[in-house]
Amino acid sequence: MSGMRLTFAEIYLKNFEHNVKAIKKFVKPGVKICCSVKADAYGHGAVPCAKAAVKCGAEYLAVATVGEGIELREAKIKAPILLLSYCSPSEMADLVKYNITPFVGDEEYIEFVEAAVKKAAKASQAQKAAAKKFAVHLAVDTGMGRVGCLPCDAAALAKRIFGSKYLCLGGMCTHFASADGTAARDRSYAKKQRDAFAAAVESVKALGIKPGIVHASASAALMDKIEWQFDMVRPGIILYGYYPDKITQKYLSAKKTPLLVKPVMALVTGISALRPFKKGMSVSYGSTWTAAKDTTIGVLPIGYADGLLRRQAGTLKVSVGGKLYPIRGRICMDQCMVDLGSAKGIKRFDRAVIFGPKESGALLTADDLAKDAGTISYEILTCVGKRVQRVLVK
Ligand SMILES: *Cc1c(COP(=O)(O)O)cnc(C)c1O
Repeated sequence: MSGMRLTFAEIYLKNFEHNVKAIKKFVKPGVKICCSVKADAYGHGAVPCAKAAVKCGAEYLAVATVGEGIELREAKIKAPILLLSYCSPSEMADLVKYNITPFVGDEEYIEFVEAAVKKAAKASQAQKAAAKKFAVHLAVDTGMGRVGCLPCDAAALAKRIFGSKYLCLGGMCTHFASADGTAARDRSYAKKQRDAFAAAVESVKALGIKPGIVHASASAALMDKIEWQFDMVRPGIILYGYYPDKITQKYLSAKKTPLLVKPVMALVTGISALRPFKKGMSVSYGSTWTAAKDTTIGVLPIGYADGLLRRQAGTLKVSVGGKLYPIRGRICMDQCMVDLGSAKGIKRFDRAVIFGPKESGALLTADDLAKDAGTISYEILTCVGKRVQRVLVK
Protein backbone atom coordinates (compact mmCIF):
# COMPACT_ATOMS: atom_id res chain seq x y z
CA MET A 1 0.00 0.00 0.00
CA SER A 2 1.34 3.42 -0.89
CA GLY A 3 0.70 6.25 1.50
CA MET A 4 -1.67 6.12 4.38
CA ARG A 5 -4.98 7.70 5.28
CA LEU A 6 -5.24 9.93 8.29
CA THR A 7 -7.75 7.33 9.55
CA PHE A 8 -6.47 3.94 10.66
CA ALA A 9 -6.70 1.50 13.56
CA GLU A 10 -3.73 0.73 15.76
CA ILE A 11 -3.58 -2.79 17.11
CA TYR A 12 -1.58 -3.01 20.32
CA LEU A 13 -0.62 -6.69 20.05
CA LYS A 14 1.29 -6.52 23.34
CA ASN A 15 -1.99 -5.79 25.09
CA PHE A 16 -3.65 -8.68 23.27
CA GLU A 17 -0.86 -11.00 24.38
CA HIS A 18 -1.15 -9.68 27.91
CA ASN A 19 -4.85 -10.49 27.86
CA VAL A 20 -4.35 -14.07 26.60
CA LYS A 21 -1.69 -14.70 29.24
CA ALA A 22 -3.87 -13.15 31.95
CA ILE A 23 -6.75 -15.47 30.99
CA LYS A 24 -4.37 -18.44 30.93
CA LYS A 25 -3.24 -17.56 34.45
CA PHE A 26 -6.79 -16.94 35.63
CA VAL A 27 -8.34 -20.28 34.65
CA LYS A 28 -7.95 -23.43 36.70
CA PRO A 29 -4.80 -25.42 35.91
CA GLY A 30 -5.31 -27.65 32.87
CA VAL A 31 -8.27 -25.72 31.48
CA LYS A 32 -7.77 -25.12 27.76
CA ILE A 33 -8.33 -21.75 26.06
CA CYS A 34 -10.28 -21.40 22.83
CA CYS A 35 -9.78 -17.84 21.55
CA SER A 36 -12.71 -16.41 19.62
CA VAL A 37 -11.27 -14.68 16.55
CA LYS A 38 -14.58 -14.47 14.69
CA ALA A 39 -15.55 -11.32 12.79
CA ASP A 40 -11.90 -10.66 11.93
CA ALA A 41 -10.97 -10.97 15.61
CA TYR A 42 -13.70 -8.51 16.63
CA GLY A 43 -12.31 -6.11 14.03
CA HIS A 44 -8.68 -6.39 15.14
CA GLY A 45 -7.38 -8.65 12.34
CA ALA A 46 -7.88 -12.41 12.59
CA VAL A 47 -4.48 -13.67 11.44
CA PRO A 48 -2.17 -11.61 13.68
CA CYS A 49 -4.47 -12.13 16.67
CA ALA A 50 -4.80 -15.88 16.08
CA LYS A 51 -1.03 -16.23 15.73
CA ALA A 52 -0.45 -14.23 18.90
CA ALA A 53 -3.06 -16.28 20.76
CA VAL A 54 -1.41 -19.57 19.80
CA LYS A 55 2.01 -18.15 20.69
CA CYS A 56 0.68 -17.27 24.14
CA GLY A 57 -0.63 -20.76 24.78
CA ALA A 58 -4.18 -20.85 23.37
CA GLU A 59 -4.99 -24.42 22.36
CA TYR A 60 -8.06 -23.71 20.19
CA LEU A 61 -9.42 -20.94 17.99
CA ALA A 62 -13.06 -20.23 17.15
CA VAL A 63 -14.64 -18.63 14.10
CA ALA A 64 -18.19 -17.96 12.92
CA THR A 65 -17.88 -18.72 9.21
CA VAL A 66 -16.04 -21.29 7.12
CA GLY A 67 -14.35 -18.44 5.23
CA GLU A 68 -12.90 -17.15 8.50
CA GLY A 69 -11.52 -20.64 9.19
CA ILE A 70 -9.99 -20.90 5.72
CA GLU A 71 -8.27 -17.53 6.20
CA LEU A 72 -6.51 -18.91 9.29
CA ARG A 73 -5.50 -22.16 7.58
CA GLU A 74 -4.12 -20.25 4.59
CA ALA A 75 -1.99 -18.29 7.07
CA LYS A 76 -0.52 -21.67 8.13
CA ILE A 77 -2.25 -21.75 11.50
CA LYS A 78 -2.40 -25.38 12.66
CA ALA A 79 -4.41 -25.10 15.89
CA PRO A 80 -7.83 -26.75 15.98
CA ILE A 81 -10.53 -24.34 14.79
CA LEU A 82 -14.12 -24.53 16.04
CA LEU A 83 -16.97 -23.27 13.88
CA LEU A 84 -19.50 -21.67 16.24
CA SER A 85 -22.38 -21.23 13.76
CA TYR A 86 -23.99 -23.63 11.30
CA CYS A 87 -22.71 -23.37 7.73
CA SER A 88 -24.39 -23.97 4.37
CA PRO A 89 -24.30 -27.36 2.58
CA SER A 90 -22.06 -25.87 -0.11
CA GLU A 91 -19.42 -25.10 2.54
CA MET A 92 -19.29 -28.62 3.99
CA ALA A 93 -16.51 -29.85 1.68
CA ASP A 94 -14.30 -27.00 2.91
CA LEU A 95 -14.96 -27.96 6.54
CA VAL A 96 -13.27 -31.25 5.78
CA LYS A 97 -10.62 -29.89 3.43
CA TYR A 98 -9.47 -27.25 5.92
CA ASN A 99 -10.11 -29.32 9.02
CA ILE A 100 -12.55 -26.97 10.68
CA THR A 101 -14.49 -28.53 13.55
CA PRO A 102 -18.24 -27.90 13.40
CA PHE A 103 -20.77 -27.68 16.22
CA VAL A 104 -23.57 -30.12 15.43
CA GLY A 105 -26.97 -30.31 17.08
CA ASP A 106 -29.35 -32.39 14.97
CA GLU A 107 -29.46 -35.57 12.93
CA GLU A 108 -29.89 -33.82 9.58
CA TYR A 109 -26.85 -31.60 10.01
CA ILE A 110 -24.78 -34.56 11.23
CA GLU A 111 -25.73 -36.38 8.02
CA PHE A 112 -24.58 -33.44 5.92
CA VAL A 113 -21.20 -33.35 7.66
CA GLU A 114 -20.87 -37.13 7.49
CA ALA A 115 -21.61 -37.17 3.76
CA ALA A 116 -18.93 -34.53 3.16
CA VAL A 117 -16.35 -36.53 5.13
CA LYS A 118 -17.32 -39.71 3.28
CA LYS A 119 -16.98 -37.97 -0.07
CA ALA A 120 -13.55 -36.60 0.85
CA ALA A 121 -12.43 -40.02 2.09
CA LYS A 122 -13.54 -41.67 -1.17
CA ALA A 123 -11.66 -39.06 -3.19
CA SER A 124 -8.45 -39.36 -1.24
CA GLN A 125 -6.73 -42.69 -0.75
CA ALA A 126 -4.26 -41.10 1.65
CA GLN A 127 -7.05 -39.96 3.91
CA LYS A 128 -8.60 -43.41 3.74
CA ALA A 129 -5.31 -45.01 4.71
CA ALA A 130 -5.05 -42.70 7.71
CA ALA A 131 -8.64 -43.73 8.55
CA LYS A 132 -8.91 -40.77 10.82
CA LYS A 133 -12.39 -39.86 11.92
CA PHE A 134 -13.54 -36.26 11.61
CA ALA A 135 -14.21 -34.59 14.96
CA VAL A 136 -17.46 -32.74 15.63
CA HIS A 137 -18.58 -31.05 18.83
CA LEU A 138 -22.09 -31.82 20.01
CA ALA A 139 -23.73 -28.53 20.96
CA VAL A 140 -26.48 -28.65 23.57
CA ASP A 141 -29.03 -25.83 23.57
CA THR A 142 -29.68 -25.30 27.25
CA GLY A 143 -31.52 -22.00 26.81
CA MET A 144 -29.81 -19.81 24.23
CA GLY A 145 -32.24 -21.02 21.56
CA ARG A 146 -29.63 -20.88 18.84
CA VAL A 147 -27.25 -23.76 18.06
CA GLY A 148 -27.57 -27.26 19.51
CA CYS A 149 -29.89 -30.09 20.48
CA LEU A 150 -32.23 -30.21 23.44
CA PRO A 151 -30.51 -31.71 26.50
CA CYS A 152 -32.83 -34.74 26.34
CA ASP A 153 -31.59 -35.55 22.80
CA ALA A 154 -27.87 -35.31 23.58
CA ALA A 155 -27.34 -38.99 24.42
CA ALA A 156 -28.99 -40.28 21.24
CA LEU A 157 -27.02 -37.87 19.04
CA ALA A 158 -23.76 -38.72 20.82
CA LYS A 159 -24.51 -42.38 20.10
CA ARG A 160 -25.21 -41.53 16.46
CA ILE A 161 -21.84 -39.75 16.15
CA PHE A 162 -20.03 -42.48 18.10
CA GLY A 163 -21.43 -45.12 15.75
CA SER A 164 -20.40 -43.27 12.59
CA LYS A 165 -17.66 -44.67 10.40
CA TYR A 166 -16.56 -41.16 9.54
CA LEU A 167 -17.20 -38.99 12.60
CA CYS A 168 -16.07 -38.89 16.21
CA LEU A 169 -17.22 -36.90 19.21
CA GLY A 170 -14.45 -34.35 19.83
CA GLY A 171 -16.35 -32.40 22.43
CA MET A 172 -19.60 -31.24 23.98
CA CYS A 173 -20.57 -27.64 24.52
CA THR A 174 -23.26 -25.14 25.37
CA HIS A 175 -23.56 -21.33 25.36
CA PHE A 176 -25.03 -19.12 28.09
CA ALA A 177 -27.71 -16.57 27.29
CA SER A 178 -27.42 -14.28 30.31
CA ALA A 179 -24.09 -14.98 31.99
CA ASP A 180 -23.22 -11.31 31.45
CA GLY A 181 -26.14 -10.08 33.55
CA THR A 182 -26.08 -9.54 37.29
CA ALA A 183 -29.82 -9.51 37.98
CA ALA A 184 -31.16 -12.43 40.01
CA ARG A 185 -33.10 -13.61 36.96
CA ASP A 186 -29.90 -13.74 34.87
CA ARG A 187 -28.01 -15.59 37.56
CA SER A 188 -30.67 -18.25 38.04
CA TYR A 189 -31.11 -18.68 34.26
CA ALA A 190 -27.37 -19.25 33.83
CA LYS A 191 -27.34 -21.72 36.71
CA LYS A 192 -30.24 -23.63 35.16
CA GLN A 193 -28.36 -23.79 31.86
CA ARG A 194 -25.21 -24.99 33.56
CA ASP A 195 -27.07 -27.76 35.39
CA ALA A 196 -28.91 -28.90 32.23
CA PHE A 197 -25.59 -29.02 30.37
CA ALA A 198 -23.83 -31.01 33.10
CA ALA A 199 -26.74 -33.48 33.10
CA ALA A 200 -26.54 -33.85 29.29
CA VAL A 201 -22.81 -34.59 29.56
CA GLU A 202 -23.55 -37.19 32.24
CA SER A 203 -26.20 -38.81 30.02
CA VAL A 204 -23.59 -39.31 27.31
CA LYS A 205 -21.04 -40.69 29.77
CA ALA A 206 -23.69 -43.08 31.07
CA LEU A 207 -23.69 -44.73 27.62
CA GLY A 208 -19.97 -45.35 27.98
CA ILE A 209 -19.22 -42.66 25.38
CA LYS A 210 -16.46 -40.16 26.11
CA PRO A 211 -17.84 -36.61 25.65
CA GLY A 212 -14.45 -35.27 24.54
CA ILE A 213 -13.59 -31.69 25.49
CA VAL A 214 -16.41 -30.21 27.55
CA HIS A 215 -16.81 -26.43 27.25
CA ALA A 216 -19.45 -23.82 28.02
CA SER A 217 -18.10 -20.48 29.18
CA ALA A 218 -17.43 -17.38 27.08
CA SER A 219 -15.84 -14.30 28.71
CA ALA A 220 -18.56 -13.54 31.26
CA ALA A 221 -19.10 -17.02 32.65
CA LEU A 222 -15.43 -17.95 32.71
CA MET A 223 -14.62 -14.94 34.89
CA ASP A 224 -17.64 -15.18 37.10
CA LYS A 225 -17.93 -18.91 37.76
CA ILE A 226 -14.64 -20.76 38.14
CA GLU A 227 -16.55 -24.02 38.52
CA TRP A 228 -18.12 -23.53 35.06
CA GLN A 229 -14.82 -23.64 33.21
CA PHE A 230 -15.08 -27.41 32.55
CA ASP A 231 -12.24 -28.59 30.22
CA MET A 232 -12.04 -25.45 28.10
CA VAL A 233 -13.24 -21.82 28.01
CA ARG A 234 -14.08 -19.70 24.96
CA PRO A 235 -13.06 -16.09 25.69
CA GLY A 236 -13.84 -13.42 23.11
CA ILE A 237 -14.35 -9.83 24.20
CA ILE A 238 -11.86 -9.98 27.11
CA LEU A 239 -9.09 -10.87 24.63
CA TYR A 240 -9.66 -7.43 23.14
CA GLY A 241 -9.62 -5.66 26.49
CA TYR A 242 -13.29 -5.17 27.33
CA TYR A 243 -15.59 -6.69 29.93
CA PRO A 244 -18.88 -8.24 28.88
CA ASP A 245 -21.76 -5.97 29.82
CA LYS A 246 -22.41 -6.12 33.58
CA ILE A 247 -19.57 -8.48 34.45
CA THR A 248 -17.20 -5.58 34.84
CA GLN A 249 -13.92 -5.17 36.64
CA LYS A 250 -15.81 -3.47 39.47
CA TYR A 251 -18.15 -6.44 39.86
CA LEU A 252 -15.25 -8.88 39.71
CA SER A 253 -13.01 -7.05 42.17
CA ALA A 254 -15.81 -7.15 44.69
CA LYS A 255 -15.58 -10.92 44.27
CA LYS A 256 -11.81 -10.80 44.63
CA THR A 257 -11.27 -12.41 41.23
CA PRO A 258 -9.23 -9.87 39.32
CA LEU A 259 -8.64 -10.39 35.65
CA LEU A 260 -7.19 -7.18 34.34
CA VAL A 261 -7.40 -6.79 30.58
CA LYS A 262 -6.23 -3.94 28.37
CA PRO A 263 -7.89 -2.50 25.26
CA VAL A 264 -6.11 -3.59 22.09
CA MET A 265 -7.48 -1.31 19.37
CA ALA A 266 -7.18 2.45 18.96
CA LEU A 267 -9.30 4.12 16.29
CA VAL A 268 -7.24 7.02 15.04
CA THR A 269 -7.92 9.83 12.61
CA GLY A 270 -6.44 13.26 11.93
CA ILE A 271 -7.45 16.80 11.21
CA SER A 272 -7.58 17.09 7.44
CA ALA A 273 -8.43 20.80 7.53
CA LEU A 274 -8.75 23.58 10.10
CA ARG A 275 -11.64 25.92 9.25
CA PRO A 276 -12.00 29.28 10.98
CA PHE A 277 -15.75 29.54 11.66
CA LYS A 278 -17.72 32.73 12.13
CA LYS A 279 -20.72 32.86 14.42
CA GLY A 280 -23.78 31.71 12.46
CA MET A 281 -22.03 29.22 10.14
CA SER A 282 -23.39 25.67 10.10
CA VAL A 283 -21.89 22.21 9.61
CA SER A 284 -22.99 19.02 7.90
CA TYR A 285 -26.24 17.63 6.47
CA GLY A 286 -29.42 19.18 7.73
CA SER A 287 -27.42 22.09 9.22
CA THR A 288 -28.31 20.78 12.65
CA TRP A 289 -25.54 22.73 14.36
CA THR A 290 -24.75 26.39 13.98
CA ALA A 291 -21.83 28.17 15.63
CA ALA A 292 -23.09 30.34 18.49
CA LYS A 293 -19.76 32.19 18.49
CA ASP A 294 -16.58 32.29 16.45
CA THR A 295 -14.68 28.99 16.65
CA THR A 296 -12.43 26.60 14.70
CA ILE A 297 -13.88 23.52 13.04
CA GLY A 298 -11.61 20.60 12.29
CA VAL A 299 -12.58 18.30 9.43
CA LEU A 300 -11.99 14.62 10.28
CA PRO A 301 -11.84 12.10 7.40
CA ILE A 302 -13.73 9.46 9.36
CA GLY A 303 -17.42 8.64 9.12
CA TYR A 304 -19.94 5.91 9.60
CA ALA A 305 -18.36 3.81 6.83
CA ASP A 306 -15.25 3.74 9.02
CA GLY A 307 -17.01 2.64 12.18
CA LEU A 308 -18.53 5.74 13.72
CA LEU A 309 -22.27 5.48 14.23
CA ARG A 310 -24.63 8.15 12.94
CA ARG A 311 -26.42 8.11 16.27
CA GLN A 312 -23.23 9.25 18.02
CA ALA A 313 -23.82 12.78 16.71
CA GLY A 314 -24.37 14.90 19.79
CA THR A 315 -22.38 12.68 22.16
CA LEU A 316 -19.13 11.83 20.40
CA LYS A 317 -15.95 13.52 21.54
CA VAL A 318 -12.49 13.17 20.05
CA SER A 319 -9.14 13.39 21.80
CA VAL A 320 -6.66 15.85 20.27
CA GLY A 321 -3.43 16.59 22.12
CA GLY A 322 -4.76 15.12 25.35
CA LYS A 323 -8.04 17.05 25.39
CA LEU A 324 -11.58 16.09 24.35
CA TYR A 325 -13.44 18.12 21.72
CA PRO A 326 -17.07 17.62 20.65
CA ILE A 327 -18.21 16.45 17.22
CA ARG A 328 -20.72 18.93 15.73
CA GLY A 329 -23.61 18.21 13.39
CA ARG A 330 -24.39 14.96 11.65
CA ILE A 331 -21.76 12.28 11.07
CA CYS A 332 -21.35 11.73 7.32
CA MET A 333 -20.33 8.50 5.58
CA ASP A 334 -16.69 9.51 5.28
CA GLN A 335 -16.20 12.62 7.37
CA CYS A 336 -17.30 14.49 10.46
CA MET A 337 -16.51 17.83 12.03
CA VAL A 338 -15.02 18.62 15.42
CA ASP A 339 -15.29 21.89 17.35
CA LEU A 340 -11.76 22.88 18.37
CA GLY A 341 -12.62 26.25 19.89
CA SER A 342 -9.55 28.49 19.63
CA ALA A 343 -7.57 25.46 18.33
CA LYS A 344 -4.63 26.72 20.34
CA GLY A 345 -1.58 24.52 19.72
CA ILE A 346 -3.44 22.40 17.16
CA LYS A 347 -2.02 22.02 13.65
CA ARG A 348 -3.42 20.64 10.43
CA PHE A 349 -2.92 16.83 10.20
CA ASP A 350 -2.62 16.47 13.97
CA ARG A 351 -3.64 13.10 15.34
CA ALA A 352 -7.15 12.71 16.75
CA VAL A 353 -8.10 9.55 18.65
CA ILE A 354 -11.66 8.27 18.85
CA PHE A 355 -11.13 5.43 21.34
CA GLY A 356 -8.39 3.12 22.50
CA PRO A 357 -5.95 2.28 25.27
CA LYS A 358 -4.38 5.21 27.16
CA GLU A 359 -1.02 4.82 25.41
CA SER A 360 -2.71 5.68 22.10
CA GLY A 361 -3.59 9.14 23.39
CA ALA A 362 -7.26 8.19 23.69
CA LEU A 363 -9.28 9.58 26.56
CA LEU A 364 -12.26 7.32 25.84
CA THR A 365 -12.69 3.56 25.46
CA ALA A 366 -15.05 1.58 23.23
CA ASP A 367 -17.14 1.09 26.39
CA ASP A 368 -17.54 4.86 26.81
CA LEU A 369 -18.71 5.17 23.20
CA ALA A 370 -21.00 2.16 23.56
CA LYS A 371 -22.70 3.62 26.62
CA ASP A 372 -23.47 6.87 24.82
CA ALA A 373 -24.72 5.06 21.71
CA GLY A 374 -26.87 2.52 23.56
CA THR A 375 -24.83 -0.47 22.47
CA ILE A 376 -21.97 -2.70 23.67
CA SER A 377 -18.23 -2.59 23.03
CA TYR A 378 -18.57 -5.63 20.74
CA GLU A 379 -20.54 -3.57 18.21
CA ILE A 380 -18.25 -0.53 18.41
CA LEU A 381 -15.23 -2.77 17.67
CA THR A 382 -16.77 -4.90 14.90
CA CYS A 383 -18.21 -1.84 13.15
CA VAL A 384 -14.76 -0.49 12.35
CA GLY A 385 -14.83 -0.55 8.56
CA LYS A 386 -12.95 -2.68 6.12
CA ARG A 387 -11.22 0.32 4.56
CA VAL A 388 -9.66 1.26 7.90
CA GLN A 389 -6.13 -0.09 7.74
CA ARG A 390 -5.07 -2.10 10.79
CA VAL A 391 -1.56 -1.12 11.83
CA LEU A 392 0.22 -3.44 14.24
CA VAL A 393 1.92 -1.64 17.11
CA LYS A 394 4.70 -3.83 18.44
C1 LIG B 1 -18.85 -15.29 20.32
C2 LIG B 1 -18.89 -16.52 21.12
C3 LIG B 1 -18.01 -16.68 22.21
C4 LIG B 1 -17.16 -15.56 22.76
O1 LIG B 1 -18.02 -14.64 23.44
P1 LIG B 1 -17.51 -13.38 24.28
O2 LIG B 1 -18.72 -12.87 24.95
O3 LIG B 1 -16.97 -12.42 23.29
O4 LIG B 1 -16.48 -13.88 25.21
C5 LIG B 1 -17.99 -17.92 22.82
N1 LIG B 1 -18.81 -18.93 22.42
C6 LIG B 1 -19.68 -18.77 21.40
C7 LIG B 1 -20.56 -19.92 21.01
C8 LIG B 1 -19.77 -17.58 20.74
O5 LIG B 1 -20.65 -17.42 19.74
